[in-house]
Amino acid sequence: MHTPYVKVLVPKKKRIALVAHDDTKTELFAWMYDKIDILKKHSLCGTGTTSTIIRENFDLEIKSYFSGPLGGDQQIGAAIANGEIDILIFFWDPMSAQPHDPDVKALLRTAVLYDVPTAQSPTGADFIFNSELFDQEYYKYIPNTAVNVEERVDQLS
Ligand code: PGA
Repeated sequence: MHTPYVKVLVPKKKRIALVAHDDTKTELFAWMYDKIDILKKHSLCGTGTTSTIIRENFDLEIKSYFSGPLGGDQQIGAAIANGEIDILIFFWDPMSAQPHDPDVKALLRTAVLYDVPTAQSPTGADFIFNSELFDQEYYKYIPNTAVNVEERVDQLS
């Protein structure tokens, strides 16, 4: 008998995705500036342009996905669904329409679905990084993808 939710370990060493739209990249890099020592202790990934600029300008290892408008947001969403990302730092641009707006919305939705803490601006990121939970193991409950729809309905009835 399956349960609709499974308990998932969020490891002490966090897998952090970093994404910023073009007009918010400077804001992200400014926020990162004094976080390098913290970021070094974790596993980083990011969309194409964001991660490339980080690799070239900060002393950090970071895995690159495709550029956001070329599918990178979807790849990060898939990584979240695969349980490969613990924290999303996503500085999306509140002032400009994006050609890949559906992908942006899908990424934010997937982050909520899999209960991934998400910062969308510097203060939000500070609150995540300064939480006492940040440096600990943590357990969360996410949808059990092994359960098919009929079983979920059965469990509800
Ligand atoms: P970029 O993508 O890092 O390749 O600029 C960011 C985004 O648009 O999601």
